[in-house]
Amino acid sequence: MKKRYEKPVIFKLKTGLMNKFGKSTLPYGRRVRREIDGVPIEELVKEFGSPLFVFSEKRLRQKFREVKNAFTLRYPNVEFSWSYKTNYLDAICAILHSEGETAEVVSEFEYEKARRLGVPGEKIIYNGPYKPIDSLRTAVKEGARINIDHFEEISDLEKVADELGVKVKAGIRLNMDTGIYPQWSRFGFNLENGQALDAVKRIAAGGKIELVGLHCHIGTFILEPSAYEKEVKKMVEFAYRVEDEFGFKIEYIDIGGGFPSRNRLRGVYLPPELAVPTIDEFAERIASALLSSLRPGDYPKLILESGRAIVDEAGFLITTVHASKRMPDGRKAYVLDAGVNVLFTAFWYHFKIEVDKEVAGPLEPCILYGPLCMNIDVVDDTVYLPPLPRGTRLILSPVGAYNVTQWMQFIRYRPAVVLIGEKGEVELIREREDLSDIVGRERLPERLRLSWE
Ligand SMILES: *Cc1c(COP(=O)(O)O)cnc(C)c1O
Repeated sequence: MKKRYEKPVIFKLKTGLMNKFGKSTLPYGRRVRREIDGVPIEELVKEFGSPLFVFSEKRLRQKFREVKNAFTLRYPNVEFSWSYKTNYLDAICAILHSEGETAEVVSEFEYEKARRLGVPGEKIIYNGPYKPIDSLRTAVKEGARINIDHFEEISDLEKVADELGVKVKAGIRLNMDTGIYPQWSRFGFNLENGQALDAVKRIAAGGKIELVGLHCHIGTFILEPSAYEKEVKKMVEFAYRVEDEFGFKIEYIDIGGGFPSRNRLRGVYLPPELAVPTIDEFAERIASALLSSLRPGDYPKLILESGRAIVDEAGFLITTVHASKRMPDGRKAYVLDAGVNVLFTAFWYHFKIEVDKEVAGPLEPCILYGPLCMNIDVVDDTVYLPPLPRGTRLILSPVGAYNVTQWMQFIRYRPAVVLIGEKGEVELIREREDLSDIVGRERLPERLRLSWE
């Protein structure tokens, strides 16, 4: 291929490539990735277009088993419940259900999606601050486990219990101080200020709900295993208080999700290999906190709703360089065919960025812009890359968590998603959108119909 002329520029070599932790850990762009699980990048793009989300079934199952083993080897009664909002593509959920995960949903839409996939009601955990009463009625009828978020929901559930003439089993969501700030105190009942106890009193007084579980989810991308230790101890202590004072039996302690993936949080210097504790460290802290605070012979079910840690590293995005620019301040910039419209998590992370082939030339600091006409559409602003010709593919990872649920349709179609199976087979799991997906529900009043005559 003919080498492209690059106008020479002078850019300042920053001693900042070294920082107080040692050598630079900035995303470094000479990494080459020609394939994903043995399937060439070019082949994937040729068949499914660019941008393209690619999921690896092998990595997904491996990661799940790693997380599962970390806990089941340390505690005898564990359930994993897949956090739908992290990635609710049917194929991803089906893989995790086949591994034994139940479904954790936070809206009536997610509830319906799990049911449509064939998950029975009893295998669904229904969380979230907004559960319309119709969906509560369905969930109770179908035997789902419901974790109550606020006092109004206690009343709603009692109403459902009356209507159906049953006593409803339910859990309550707690929020608490575990040393993680800002504290997520907007969900559930606060433990320290007595609100959680008031909720239990209220439930006991109503006599229509049987409290069987405690739930808590302290945040996401938690880098501090000790936070979970605090969470578990507080939950167990509260469980026994509820049992002793109110006669309920707490059958499950659901500690939510929040474990980090090997992603690089913006503002964190250390590479993920150093900044992110292993899942074994989390499991060890959690299991020992449980075993040391539970009464002898009592093994309530430990429920984990890990999302990000399981799916993030199974996901890649292939994107293509559409144009390059030299910014007035001298920095190099590229326009890509994927931006924050499909990479919502770019606001928080510096993804690993790999190039599909060797590219000669010096590395320089670059900005990666997406295709939107919005100033905030920046995929990365500090990546060191060689001069990339138009058409170069970049492979961004990990992007498996929260992108294919939070992506937005704004001005462009959402791209296709493919799954690479364990034998290397490539299957489409979500088609690229077209105009009909977007206009299908629009209605144009007859009187506004145009005729350009
Ligand atoms: C989002 C969420 C999860 C999953 O969180 P991760 O940080 O992805 O592990 C689990 N439980 C609840 C209630 C959630 O809202």
